[in-house]
Amino acid sequence: PPYPILVSGAVVKGFGRGGKQLGIPTANLAEDAVERTLRDIPIGVYLGWAQIAGEPQQQQQQQPVWPMVMSLGWNPYFQNERRSGEVHVIHNFDEDFYGRTLNVAILAYIRPERNYDSLDALIADIHFDIDVAHRSLAREAYQRVKELDFFSAEI
Ligand code: ADP
Ligand code: MG
Repeated sequence: PPYPILVSGAVVKGFGRGGKQLGIPTANLAEDAVERTLRDIPIGVYLGWAQIAGEPQQQQQQQPVWPMVMSLGWNPYFQNERRSGEVHVIHNFDEDFYGRTLNVAILAYIRPERNYDSLDALIADIHFDIDVAHRSLAREAYQRVKELDFFSAEI
């Protein structure tokens, strides 16, 4: 499918093992959004932009758009028959944002999913993904995606 792939979904609770303890929290997208939009693309790790939509009292303000890496995998909640989309927003937030709407523009595929022998290997790969995302997203064509109506529309 053509990039960008645009997805909006509520941030739901995961198993809490997504990695806040590892310094790599992943905002789990509601299952309906993932099923609807990400059915036909390969499982793996992607890069792009993410925005936490405004709360009602801030609707007039454009919310910032951050770099992100997203893992598209199989969802253990649904016996691994449905997909899960987990977004690590590359920014430090003071608070959690469960329940908020996350707008995501997927721009490129980084790599397939891997199985890991150690937590250190997993963390090293994610840090590598984050580095790839930063460098890729500097490209002019990717910068322009931040200006799409998708990120300025009110919800
Ligand atoms: P869960 O299993 O519930 O998804 P995680 O350990 O993966 O738990 O933490 C994810 C939660 O952390 C998100 O839903 C969000 O509310 C919060 N969070 C804070 N900072 C970030 C960030 N930079 N990227 C993604 N989620 C974040
Ligand atoms: Mg998570």
